[in-house]
Amino acid sequence: MSAKGDMYYAWSTDADLLAKGECGGAVSSLLKYALESKMVDAVLAVKKGADIYDAVPTLITDPEEIAQAAGSLHCGTLLLSKLFKKYLNGANDMKIAVTVKGCDAMGIYELAKRQQINLDNVVMIGLNCGGTVSPVTARKMIADKFETDPDTVLKEEIDKGQFIIETADGHKGIKIDELEEEGYGRRSNCRRCKMKVPRQADLACGNWGVIGDKAGKATFVEVCSEKGAELLDAATKAGKLATEAPNPKGIEIRGKVENAMLKLGDSWRARDFEALGEGSDRLKKILNETSRCIKCYQCIDNCPICYCVECSTKKPYLVKPGEIPPNFMFHLIRFAHISDSCINCGQCQELCAMDIPNSLFMHALQVDLQEMFGFVPGVDMTLPLLALVEENEERDRLTGTGSDQIFNIFQKE
Ligand SMILES: Cc1cc2nc3c(=O)[nH]c(=O)nc-3n(C[C@H](O)[C@H](O)[C@H](O)COP(=O)(O)OP(=O)(O)OC[C@H]3O[C@@H](n4cnc5c(N)ncnc54)[C@H](O)[C@@H]3O)c2cc1C
Ligand code: SF4
Ligand code: SF4
Ligand code: SF4
Repeated sequence: MSAKGDMYYAWSTDADLLAKGECGGAVSSLLKYALESKMVDAVLAVKKGADIYDAVPTLITDPEEIAQAAGSLHCGTLLLSKLFKKYLNGANDMKIAVTVKGCDAMGIYELAKRQQINLDNVVMIGLNCGGTVSPVTARKMIADKFETDPDTVLKEEIDKGQFIIETADGHKGIKIDELEEEGYGRRSNCRRCKMKVPRQADLACGNWGVIGDKAGKATFVEVCSEKGAELLDAATKAGKLATEAPNPKGIEIRGKVENAMLKLGDSWRARDFEALGEGSDRLKKILNETSRCIKCYQCIDNCPICYCVECSTKKPYLVKPGEIPPNFMFHLIRFAHISDSCINCGQCQELCAMDIPNSLFMHALQVDLQEMFGFVPGVDMTLPLLALVEENEERDRLTGTGSDQIFNIFQKE
């Protein structure tokens, strides 16, 4: 029996899934087995729509359709968590296996804490994630920087720090760093993201660490929960999946790559947050950017933290109806309600019709709040800050200020 922390090289025994899979097709095999064995009633995955830039969420109940979703879509910037709430009744009526990037997994936990998703009915197959590129940016980048017609690209991937495209004429790669310096590359929230291996999922799957003769032909799988161990063991026992012990050198490399990505995330955070300025400069910047708001509510509808039946931004005594741009209160309400739990998924920024850097503003607040309260969103079922107030913690916090009033809190170096 596998246990939490165990690691494997795994690959599909089904020739079609092995060929179509991004690495070893292990994820597709696990999903197919979960459906066939009735461990789950449905699979929520992502498949190619019109082209490789078009990632479409899909609910699959026929195991034969799993192959259609095999492969990774790096322009798949979508967040799957809120679909559970909006369209799948929070997985209350059926058991669902879902493929999750770090942000999808974090969003699922945040909604589960707010009782919008029933985690007992969800199996999360995690995908390591180095970042996603918005489809429109990817097209522009391929045309401008790769001097290639985006419609001729057969496959794209991010590997060893390069963005690589494959056309009928072969491969072409450009360093991500170089692309990002010029304003292309991964979304800005992805650059700041530090959820690279989603260990809060049931299994974490990726290509990092697969070396030697299995390179490119196996998936690196880390077992993260009992549920994950059960699925992996049962699929292997049923002959759907083959596994072997990972190369120790591969495990070491995987650790090093993960650490390098975390450091890179830190340096993007420092750079982005510094550029926001301080004090009234920062306020001016936020006021200026948000003054373009057309009150379309996309940032609210798509945020995995927003679950209210009616948002306070729709209360006439807080935000005057019929006024555009809305009073700054509109954005202050979002900052107050979301910032402690923001998972930096980037949806509020990417879907903003007016290109307001919403997730940058919210993430900057979240990182400071995390430092202040020690609350890390999206990693487990720990309740949000204001849902759980502990007497001793409150006493300690007041004592820690060295004062009898809430006055002397922040430190300046
Ligand atoms: C955007 C992205 C970035 C990645 N970056 C890294 C990385 O830096 N390092 C690393 O080790 N691994 C990374 N991976 C994981 C890796 O590419 C493979 O998905 C993983 O190794 C599983 O391989 P497989 O052959 O077993 O999967 P497959 O059998 O090919 O199955 C892949 C599954 O992923 C799902 N999927 C595809 N695109 C998305 C998406 N955008 N969002 C959610 N689900 C999706 C599909 O529905 C499919 O079920 C990334 C994956 C994605 C989607
Ligand atoms: S936010 Fe993180 S986990 Fe989500 S797509 Fe970007 S890099 Fe991947
Ligand atoms: S505020 Fe934006 S970045 Fe943060 S969780 Fe909500 S949608 Fe995602
Ligand atoms: S998505 Fe942009 S324009 Fe729409 S309400 Fe939010 S901030 Fe305003």
